[in-house]
Amino acid sequence: MKRIRPSSLKNIEICSDFEQPEDAEVHPLTEAGSRLHYAMETMNDEKLLEEDLPAFESGKQMLAEILPKEEPDTLLLEYGFRYPDGAYAGTVDRIQFHGDRAIMIDYKFGWNPVDHPSGNAQFQDYTVKAFDEWLHIDEIDVYMLAPRLKVIQMHTYKRSDVPRLKARIDMIHERQRTGGLRQATDNCRFCKHVGTCHEAYNTFSNPTNELPVLNHDWSIDTAEEVSAALKVLPVATAWFDSFKKSVNCKAIKLMEIGVEVEGFRLGTRKGASKVIDIDVVRDTLKDLGVSEEDFAAALTVSVNDCVKLARDVAPDRKKKVWETQFRADAAAGIEPGESKAAVYKQK
Ligand code: SF4
Repeated sequence: MKRIRPSSLKNIEICSDFEQPEDAEVHPLTEAGSRLHYAMETMNDEKLLEEDLPAFESGKQMLAEILPKEEPDTLLLEYGFRYPDGAYAGTVDRIQFHGDRAIMIDYKFGWNPVDHPSGNAQFQDYTVKAFDEWLHIDEIDVYMLAPRLKVIQMHTYKRSDVPRLKARIDMIHERQRTGGLRQATDNCRFCKHVGTCHEAYNTFSNPTNELPVLNHDWSIDTAEEVSAALKVLPVATAWFDSFKKSVNCKAIKLMEIGVEVEGFRLGTRKGASKVIDIDVVRDTLKDLGVSEEDFAAALTVSVNDCVKLARDVAPDRKKKVWETQFRADAAAGIEPGESKAAVYKQK
């Protein structure tokens, strides 16, 4: 039976055919999360970037708030659960034992709210594994600490809860094994099938369903319709990007082996050319009669790329300082853009 990563349990409970893409790019927030997990494990901020420090401080404060004064009998950090055959079965960030009680802690360093430990499938999976592994434990306080959101959530599980929790986890495994229970929700944006999935297509492109943003007449009038449209926007975007990639890939593969696709032909498109010697380009344009001012106006230099360059050469943990200095010292050469109204997701 295919093993499910504990973090995917929730997604599979919603949709039996959910699968994470193998080649998913590592999001900068995920990289920051890895650095912060390591810092919380070692209580050492050496490997953190400057922008990670507030989350680290907040995480330490939360920990101090929830931990009992007395020393634990045993403390385990980054504890890896194993299946009976030795295969990896998930990692809990911190678990400590006080007599017949345990305190299990998981840090979440993202900006999105996480399901409460009382209903969170991943935490329940760890809870079952912990009760199975340490038979002297009768109760576990399961904590979720979200330092960026400044949220602490806790639920106490008793050993008598285990059959109920196991039933849920087994049901999710069974659901994945049998498959066929597809349900498109905003989880689809993390699924590798989103571009080719009929369920996702029907949900995100059918004008008669609950997604007003895809109506022909774009009638998004009420606050409820706007909210529904904003919620579906990232999913629809992920679906469209993935759909475009899948269709193009398939079309090229078929045409390369000589299959005719009615109305389309295989060609080649040149990649964008790049200026590698600006002096040659400037002199050539000058010879043609283009003024220095018009040439300067045609140049586009990205302020964000320049900021990135400044941050890249900054010493350890000085990225923000270098960025601020660059912005201040180069201010005379940068015209700030016009501010426009923008919509942000509420935390
Ligand atoms: S894209 Fe399809 S398979 Fe993937 S989660 Fe959505 S409905 Fe399920």
